[in-house]
Amino acid sequence: MKGKAFWLAAAAIGIAGAVSVVWAQQAKQAQQAQEAQPGPELLQAKEFFGKAGIPGKRWVEGETMVPHIAPASHFKATMLYYPGTEELQPDEVRVTFMGSTYYPNRSQSGMSIFVELGNGENVVFDLGIGSLRNYNAFSIPFNTINHVFFTHLHMDHMSDLPYFMMFRPIQAGWTPLHIYGPSGSEKQYGIAHMVEHMMKMTAWHQDSFNAWPIGDGYSPEVHEFDFMKEGEVIYDRKGVKIRHWPTSHTKDGATSYRLDWNGRSICYTGDNRPNSLTIKHCKGVDLLISEVQNAAISLSSRALGMPTAMAAYTIDTSHTPAYGLGYICKKAQPKVCVATHYSYDDIFNNETVAQVRHHYKGAFAFGAPDLVTFNIHGDGKVWWREGAAADSSQTPRPRFESPTVKFPAPRHQVYDVINDTIEANEINPKKWYPKGHRPDLVRKWPLTKDVEVPNPFAPPPAK
Ligand SMILES: [Zn+2]
Ligand SMILES: [Zn+2]
Repeated sequence: MKGKAFWLAAAAIGIAGAVSVVWAQQAKQAQQAQEAQPGPELLQAKEFFGKAGIPGKRWVEGETMVPHIAPASHFKATMLYYPGTEELQPDEVRVTFMGSTYYPNRSQSGMSIFVELGNGENVVFDLGIGSLRNYNAFSIPFNTINHVFFTHLHMDHMSDLPYFMMFRPIQAGWTPLHIYGPSGSEKQYGIAHMVEHMMKMTAWHQDSFNAWPIGDGYSPEVHEFDFMKEGEVIYDRKGVKIRHWPTSHTKDGATSYRLDWNGRSICYTGDNRPNSLTIKHCKGVDLLISEVQNAAISLSSRALGMPTAMAAYTIDTSHTPAYGLGYICKKAQPKVCVATHYSYDDIFNNETVAQVRHHYKGAFAFGAPDLVTFNIHGDGKVWWREGAAADSSQTPRPRFESPTVKFPAPRHQVYDVINDTIEANEINPKKWYPKGHRPDLVRKWPLTKDVEVPNPFAPPPAK
């Protein structure tokens, strides 16, 4: 490059550099100005994203799109609940349908509702056939379930109780199980009579398992209340209040419940005809959980192969058709109207919703099929999701809250209750264990007294 051209080029580069510095300064100033005073586009964008999918009035639509229906920020997934992945907040309530129908099938068990409270307490409403497999699938240790409430004594609501009574102590449920339920028109129809005779029915089972640590696991405490009383508080513990009222269902001795805790409220009516007391006691609750029967009788009779009179008689004397539920929810105005005790089939679902909607315009959900989970959280928000569980699972490990655990001594040894001649017919294990494999057999429980041991599952002390 010649001398003159070099200087010209150098000057050009210098000018360009100076210009780019000025530009950068101007851009920075513009950005600062924009941050200080957001322009209309930025304001629009903030509004758009801030509303999370509701950018304008035209999208506020449907019966469910009301402000109190919202997920919580701590949910791991908003459309699925994975048990064990979310810490219940101190003010939160989680309600899981462990059973949701009357005829059990692969996706639905007999009625059972598991209510977990942010203060660490839980209660169970009903324990219908097959529901326990869902408690296991959700890894709920049996020894953490201590208070079970029954709406009535139909087997679709209580037939898992004998199994639970017998196996709860095997999962370290060594304290008495508290069982709550109504009296009947005569002593023999009350819950106390049922439990007394259930314990007799399980005499063989109890004596066989008494060779294991059982503690007080086979000494249930029954809290039978007068089924006729209305609004009586039958449970008042750690801020949780549960009251009941009588209801009309096949025979005297059916009851409905309301739970209150920390400003949250849940009604569960059990089975019944649409009832004025439900409206009275459930006004404005977070969840109004009612049974529902689809009233498409000609359709269900065809499906079930029953005469229409059979279905009509059953519903018209004893159950809540979807029109009736819609009417109740219109009057009581819960945050969410929840229909359960329901065979969750596509052929009936649309019909059922249509009937509920005839009266009721608020948020509606099915408490079915099994594992659907509701959270009541924040400033009174409600959200519900399908619960996810593996098809197979083992029993979860027990949970102990105290720093030490008192291991109860068995009542007797296994071979105390097996005849010597029958024992003598057992084949010597040396014949069936492989050669060289001679495990030390535990043929006797090694301890004859209760022993206090450190909680094996306590968190390690903070360093
Ligand atoms: Zn039922
Ligand atoms: Zn019933």
